[in-house]
Amino acid sequence: MRGVALAVSVVVRYRKAVTYGVHALLAALETSGVEHELRLGTTPEETAGHITACRADRVLVLWSFYSPDAEAMAAELATVRSLSGGRGLHIAGGVHATAEPQQVIDAGWDLAGIGEGESTIVSLVRALQRDEPLTSVPGLAIKDGDGVALRTRPAPQLPLDAFPSFVHRNGPIEITRGCRYTCRFCQTPFMFGGQFRHRSVASVREHVREMAARGLRDVRFITPTSLSYGSPGPDPDLDKVEELLAGVKEELPANGRVFFGSFPSEVRPEHVTPEAMRLLRRYVANDNLIIGAQSGSDRVLAASGRGHDTSPVRDAVRIAVEHGFRPNVDFIFGMPGEGEEDQAQSLKLASDLAELGARIHTHTFMPLPGTPWRDAEPAFIPLTTRSELDRLAQRGDAYGHWRRQEEHAARLAETAKAYPRRTRRRRTG
Ligand code: SF4
Repeated sequence: MRGVALAVSVVVRYRKAVTYGVHALLAALETSGVEHELRLGTTPEETAGHITACRADRVLVLWSFYSPDAEAMAAELATVRSLSGGRGLHIAGGVHATAEPQQVIDAGWDLAGIGEGESTIVSLVRALQRDEPLTSVPGLAIKDGDGVALRTRPAPQLPLDAFPSFVHRNGPIEITRGCRYTCRFCQTPFMFGGQFRHRSVASVREHVREMAARGLRDVRFITPTSLSYGSPGPDPDLDKVEELLAGVKEELPANGRVFFGSFPSEVRPEHVTPEAMRLLRRYVANDNLIIGAQSGSDRVLAASGRGHDTSPVRDAVRIAVEHGFRPNVDFIFGMPGEGEEDQAQSLKLASDLAELGARIHTHTFMPLPGTPWRDAEPAFIPLTTRSELDRLAQRGDAYGHWRRQEEHAARLAETAKAYPRRTRRRRTG
């Protein structure tokens, strides 16, 4: 069969929760020039229907999900396999598959995509067309004869400009990937590396130009920390931020709107200075800023590796409000080692910030795969803390899915016990 190009169909189990990552992969495929047919399945039934309807020689089925959804997605995979008569090569990608390839293989996927998927998906479709061994594709975990997930060579972490940020000229533009901070609860540095990689202003402007040509007027960004744009280190480079925002404005029509430091991104509290806020006020349309505080306990913040204590948080909220932004401030309850006194400090800070004009976004700690705290025990959240969180929510000062995250945390802890870290690193060839 070698030398003959096989027809390949790519079927995506398309879910709203993971569109950004999936769009980046589809954009890489689209611009690679590798021939393929693309179909999107928004339900298991539609996905199975696409798989059975494909006339291609090979059908590659893409799945992506976050750790809390892994169990539900495994059940969907079984449904799709049964409805489609077992046809298709199923690959799971994203942060969960990267952190737990053995678990993903055991759950029924044929392959796990490890790390950033752009170059992997292009190489994989090409290898299927050419009938080449999948061991030649970087960034995969493949099941061997004993069911063990063996890794191929790592996929490269390329500059962001190497691939477009989205397909269909729509969606938020990824301006920074990777993170130089080391928050022990966060999957970002593990997945994308411990350095910032910024998309160039020229590339961002090109994206905005394409959006404007389609009549779109709102621009949003994906970044781990908005005010770090253009900077290699901890201090913001506001000249670079201004170059970005001014460039984006120039590409937009007069009624164009730029959203920066709000969903789907955020800012670190120590970056919220009067100078930074004056700059944003000149360019952005958002009336809110998302600020990561995470805890009101200096002890817990130090243990979590956040890189700041509580002192900049109050200042950030005060400064943001003074400049006309409503801060939405993230808190995580139940971080490892957190005691009742720490939680009392978090509740006090949350209440003080609400008085200053902030809304509190409450989360529960989840021991996420790939993070330094994957195996850490979530701290107990007693009734007194729960009641206070409910009271904040009833006053309209807090919102969030902390109860649901608590359930996810319990399930993740169970899975972590079943898959000790040491079973997870073997390589093919
Ligand atoms: S929580 Fe934010 S600042 Fe901390 S490592 Fe993750 S992305 Fe970076």
